[in-house]
Amino acid sequence: MKVVDIIQKKKEGREHTKEEIYFLVNSYIQGKTEDYQMSAWLMAVCFQGLSEKETLYLTQSYIDSGEVLDFSSISSFVADKHSTGGVGDKVTLVLIPILAALNITCAKLSGRGLGYTGGTIDKLESIPNFNVELTPEAFKAQIKKIGAAISSQSPNLTPADGKIYALRDVTATVDNASLIAASVVSKKVASGANSIVLDVTWGKGAFIKNLEEAQKLGNLMVKIGHLLNRKVDFVVSPMNEPLGFAIGNSLEVIEAIDFLKGKKIDDLYNITLEIVHKTLLNYSKVSNILQSKELMDKVINEGSALQKLKEIISAQKGCSEVIEDYSLFKNAKNVMPIKAQKSATVKELDALKIAKCAK
Ligand code: URA
Repeated sequence: MKVVDIIQKKKEGREHTKEEIYFLVNSYIQGKTEDYQMSAWLMAVCFQGLSEKETLYLTQSYIDSGEVLDFSSISSFVADKHSTGGVGDKVTLVLIPILAALNITCAKLSGRGLGYTGGTIDKLESIPNFNVELTPEAFKAQIKKIGAAISSQSPNLTPADGKIYALRDVTATVDNASLIAASVVSKKVASGANSIVLDVTWGKGAFIKNLEEAQKLGNLMVKIGHLLNRKVDFVVSPMNEPLGFAIGNSLEVIEAIDFLKGKKIDDLYNITLEIVHKTLLNYSKVSNILQSKELMDKVINEGSALQKLKEIISAQKGCSEVIEDYSLFKNAKNVMPIKAQKSATVKELDALKIAKCAK
């Protein structure tokens, strides 16, 4: 088998066999296929697309390239979520404590910022001493002890996605539904959760620019996830404007804490509730969204979700006093106040422009 023939085949829009996809991915991670050949294949995929079968094979080849975590000895229901990327997106920071406070085991592996989108791991690092790099053993031990952990993706999980994602990032080949689906679903399957809720963002500040495409991508990921025996569901969320009011690492953690203290932030509340609901549905714990809302409001109002966040921060050696004293956060070195020149009403905030500015 030759890589050049595989590239030619995709250029002509023909369907790959499982063997061809495994051969290409394996030879790339072993360093036998060069970046320029993989880039050519990725670009051919962007123009010709991948069938559902090819997307499944690509996903499996990513999973098989590394380890797969197993939490079956800790819990029969382990929840995870993943967002395809947003601006001001601090959903993980509030969702995981809420679910954990509802006694749902959460194994959350998160990433750093990609392109102009923010990453949960960078945000957590604004908490002094917070350890974002748990070993698989420490990750498991923490989940067993307090029901939740948020750590960065280990390089041993889906290394093929790690290497190919980095190449996609610099070859303008990120925004293809099959490539995104393989990347996201493989990571989630390898990280050991059996309930996965995907937040498919669309709009100016997202990789997917419209709702229809977001729904297509969501449906594709659900199908691939089901074929791999995982409970997968998705929500779609608009990202034309940033989520909430804060953009930037420590500011977003502060906003998440405020939210868990009961501050009303409508768009953050609504998307969090949708994901909580889909997770509870997967767990067969509720039958309608009002029940989910009641449960979510209860753990926020009683303070148990905030307490869970504190436990997660302490378990990961972070300074949990930040919850009471925001001056303890690591702050940006340069601060430039920009004052409005005149009194007016803000009608629209362009998520992409703000993300680039914040970056
Ligand atoms: N997030 C991912 O993890 N992978 C993609 O391809 C896009 C967004």
